[in-house]
Amino acid sequence: MANFLKEYRCEHCNKLFFKGDLQSCMVEIKCKNCKNISRIEEKNCNSKDLAAVM
Ligand SMILES: [Zn+2]
Repeated sequence: MANFLKEYRCEHCNKLFFKGDLQSCMVEIKCKNCKNISRIEEKNCNSKDLAAVM
């Protein structure tokens, strides 16, 4: 099931934040590695599908 989940990574250092299937959410996340804050926005959110691996 996890195979189709999208990987969301820090755009600064490319550290993997989490895998999930976001469709219309905005997530703001701070990279634990480089402290860069990234915003991830997707259309058609379905946050129950989020499978956090943080
Ligand atoms: Zn980073």
